[in-house]
Amino acid sequence: MLKDKIQELQNKKCDLQDLIRKINNDISVINQYVIDTCVEKCGGHNFESYRESGLYGETFYVCKICGVEE
Ligand SMILES: [Zn+2]
Repeated sequence: MLKDKIQELQNKKCDLQDLIRKINNDISVINQYVIDTCVEKCGGHNFESYRESGLYGETFYVCKICGVEE
C-alpha cells in the first residue's frame, strides 16, 4: 500500500529529525567546551580581525585558538 509507504517515510523523517536535534545539541555542547577550554587553559580568546570581501564588507573578530566569533 502506498499509504503504508508514506507512513513509513514519515516515521523515518521523524527519526532523522530527532537525530539532527541530538547532533545539533552535541555540537553546541562541544562548542561550549572548546570555548570554555580556551578561556581556562589559554587565558582567554585571542581575537584576530577579518574583513568580509566586498566594498562594504564588515570587520569581524575570530579567536585564533577556538574560532569563536566576537
Ligand atoms: Zn578562544
